[in-house]
Amino acid sequence: MVEQPDVVIVGGGIAGASAACKLAAGGLSVVLLEKQDAYKDLVRGEWLAPWGIREARRLGVDECFWAGGGWEIREWMTWDEAVTEDEVEAVDMTGFIPGIGGPMSFPHHAVCELMSEQAVQSGARLEMAASKIDVTPGPRPVVSYRTPDGPRELRPRIVLGATGRGCTVGRQAGITMRNSMHHWGGGMMVEGMDAWPPDVQAMGTEGDRMFMVFPQGYGRARLYLNFPTVNKHRYRGPGGVARFLAAFELECLPDRGKAVTEAIPAGPLSVWPSVSSVPEGPPMTEGVVLIGDEAGNADTVLGTGLSCALRDSRTVCDILLGSADWSPPAFAPYAEERAFRIERLDFGASIISRLHVEFGPAAVERRRRVRKLMAKNFAAQVTGLLNMVAPEEVPEFGFSEFFAERLFRETA
Ligand SMILES: Cc1cc2nc3c(=O)[nH]c(=O)nc-3n(C[C@H](O)[C@H](O)[C@H](O)COP(=O)(O)OP(=O)(O)OC[C@H]3O[C@@H](n4cnc5c(N)ncnc54)[C@H](O)[C@@H]3O)c2cc1C
Repeated sequence: MVEQPDVVIVGGGIAGASAACKLAAGGLSVVLLEKQDAYKDLVRGEWLAPWGIREARRLGVDECFWAGGGWEIREWMTWDEAVTEDEVEAVDMTGFIPGIGGPMSFPHHAVCELMSEQAVQSGARLEMAASKIDVTPGPRPVVSYRTPDGPRELRPRIVLGATGRGCTVGRQAGITMRNSMHHWGGGMMVEGMDAWPPDVQAMGTEGDRMFMVFPQGYGRARLYLNFPTVNKHRYRGPGGVARFLAAFELECLPDRGKAVTEAIPAGPLSVWPSVSSVPEGPPMTEGVVLIGDEAGNADTVLGTGLSCALRDSRTVCDILLGSADWSPPAFAPYAEERAFRIERLDFGASIISRLHVEFGPAAVERRRRVRKLMAKNFAAQVTGLLNMVAPEEVPEFGFSEFFAERLFRETA
């Protein structure tokens, strides 16, 4: 007998596991397939924007974030070679969305584990260590895969592809992406950062690197660096971890970054090309719908991938739970809203990359000039909204060529 669940979800990350929670709680039979045998630190996003926290609440998975180690960030400091010591000031991050505080920082794999447990408690079947997944789309799609006990096959009504940037399901379903890349990035978890203010996130650029620090409480923090593609091997190989930490020795940071450079590595160091992927058509075909990064993603520098994954999950679950029609036209509103959203986020990410992840004297001068423009002109402060609130809540002006031209023209 071939198992015929309502929904098979391939990929148990934030997108897939949250959808499994919602659909199983809504009474559908769900199988969640995850390739890892246990959730590990894959160095993914760990900063959830306020609009993403609201999406998590709407999905009923917000408790997984808090129970998994969610930590509220209340202030944002920019320490940067283009900012003098007198100009450094803390920006309050808590007042963007009513009823939601600041953004949240959390250990990604711990939250995925709790979410998949919640999905199981709601009635989903979770299969860890599912490998060699093969999806054949169609009105009754076929999913074959391997487990440590042998091959398996499922014939659900629909497959949700949620395998992240690997796009395993999307490729098998013939959904293609337009990719572009601006720079490279690296990330690592550390502990022992007790000297760092616990609810203050920081970012800035100096020399040939842009840094980000997201505290997670109890002296732990997720560190990220963005750097030019020509230096892509800089943190690879023997001594890479030491070089990564030493890169935080920066003039612009208090005490030349000692709180970070003396931190203790507490997870793997991962280095990646910071790619944006926009689907060349709707992220679905007969019997298959893509969600999360698999459906397309903006450059990670904007920090909105998690919020997008949760929005996708909620939108698609609402359609599946709200109607018996699961044919491709039923998902057209999702495809349309997502295309609008990714276009805006991709534009926002390109502004942030250009502003903060370009290096050299002209780039420093550009950042100085944009800071002055923002201080004088309220409209220019829209960049501060690009990732904090949902794309449809940012004035259209913030995503216009006119705005980009005004920001960059004097130093282009
Ligand atoms: C380094 C980095 C930093 C980031 N920083 C931020 C940030 O601060 N804020 C933010 O909002 N976003 C950030 N992002 C983006 C964010 O991590 C992603 O948008 C988010 O994780 C997408 O969730 P997902 O579930 O779609 O994909 P993923 O998180 O990639 O999860 C995919 C899951 O599917 C599983 N899988 C993969 N292939 C298969 C397969 N063939 N079969 C079965 N299972 C499979 C994987 O093991 C994984 O569990 C960052 C991304 C990276 C890489």
